[in-house]
Amino acid sequence: MEKMHTQISVANHEETRHLTDFSSPVQFKYFTENNFESIPQVQALSDDIRFSIKVVASVLPFKVNEYVIRELINWDNIPDDPIFQLTFPQHGMLTERDFNTVADLIKAEASRSEIRAAANKIRLSLNPHPAGQMTLNVPVMDGHVLRGMQHKYRETVLFFPTSGQTCHAYCTFCFRWAQFVGLSDLKFAAKEGEILRDYVLRHPEVTNVLFTGGDPMVMKTSVLTRYIEPLLDERLENLQTIRIGTKALAYWPMRFVTDKDSDDLLRLFERIRKAGRQVAIMAHYNHFRELETPVAQEAIRRVLDTGAMIRTQSPVVAHINDQAVIWEEMWREQVRLGMVPYYMFVERDTGARDYFKVPLEQAHRIYRDAYKCVNGLSRTVRGPSMSATPGKVEVSGIAEVNGEKVFVLRFIQGRNPDWVDQPFFAQYDPNASWLNELTPAFGEEKFFFEDELEKIISTKTRMMETLAA
Ligand SMILES: *Cc1c(COP(=O)(O)O)cnc(C)c1O
Repeated sequence: MEKMHTQISVANHEETRHLTDFSSPVQFKYFTENNFESIPQVQALSDDIRFSIKVVASVLPFKVNEYVIRELINWDNIPDDPIFQLTFPQHGMLTERDFNTVADLIKAEASRSEIRAAANKIRLSLNPHPAGQMTLNVPVMDGHVLRGMQHKYRETVLFFPTSGQTCHAYCTFCFRWAQFVGLSDLKFAAKEGEILRDYVLRHPEVTNVLFTGGDPMVMKTSVLTRYIEPLLDERLENLQTIRIGTKALAYWPMRFVTDKDSDDLLRLFERIRKAGRQVAIMAHYNHFRELETPVAQEAIRRVLDTGAMIRTQSPVVAHINDQAVIWEEMWREQVRLGMVPYYMFVERDTGARDYFKVPLEQAHRIYRDAYKCVNGLSRTVRGPSMSATPGKVEVSGIAEVNGEKVFVLRFIQGRNPDWVDQPFFAQYDPNASWLNELTPAFGEEKFFFEDELEKIISTKTRMMETLAA
């Protein structure tokens, strides 16, 4: 007999009632731009806010589920609530001009295709694929470009399983937003776990594979198993760790607790460990609120019980978490729950970044003000870090050298591993919010890595052009 679904009922103005009965599955119900107006909490918002959601959701991805609506968002604090900002499209995410273009079309009851054409034009102006992801990071095997993978740093291969390219809800600031709005050629997709296995087999320098997306945890356990099984092959002596990047612990913790195949998922983690490999869940948490619900904590406990480790990461984002106290509380709580703080990122230069961006100076101040308040167990975190074309560049601090105020920077990861951990310097600029807005300090013409990066880029570009010909 079909198990009864526990409904997370969404009644207007009803008190938040946290899910505490973990004995039966919870139905996954989600909303998009097509049906969000049926959410009772949304019906209670002003016409203005509702219309803004509609306009912005015509351009940028929007998906939210009942758990987020019911257990994470504080509906008495709209629009400022951080989880509302994190999941619902906001007026300021588009420039006034773009907003008005789409708003006018909607008001004039323009056709879907007219709105889509305007939206696509705006999308293409938002730097849809930053940091050379479409060409520079794609690996090649036997003369074939492996579209569903990225191999940028020597030891780590990113794998984008075809069936894991959506999420339980979308983050408004997402740097992979383009793949969710039907710019379909921007979708990374891998067909087969076997191809991944063969690639790892031929690249002894690869020690870990990172499943990413979208969110691989949207896959049923049976599907995920098909991707993972080939990696348990004992010939892959180089493969130490299977990482899974996911936001499910925050957006759909039931994935690990009450879903029909949650137990199978936990057994899969145990199987990977029995095959001599570590499981690292790279968990995306943007705010401590996401750690607070009983089911979120139960999910963490169950994952850790399998012997998997959980490392946490998030960008620092305006309107969501741009205050040190939020990070302090988040890192402290993560450690209390048994997780390891890993990265603080800088919001990438794509999509609605003008709305979400935090200048580097401010990002570093937030980082430091939080870092100095927590004990060493939380100080495993690194950042603020920019995932840029040459590598992951950390803002280590601000210093004065020979009377010149500078940013002290270092690579946490580099396209050339030899760049890692060498301090370098940029002119201090309180408004800069990305690497390409920085100028070398001390009158230097270039940063130390630039010539070599250019060579790496032109070699790779030539190779890709030859393959395409
Ligand atoms: C961050 C990142 C990795 C993993 O780097 P770690 O420092 O090992 O966590 C791998 N590939 C890409 C493209 C990345 O951005």
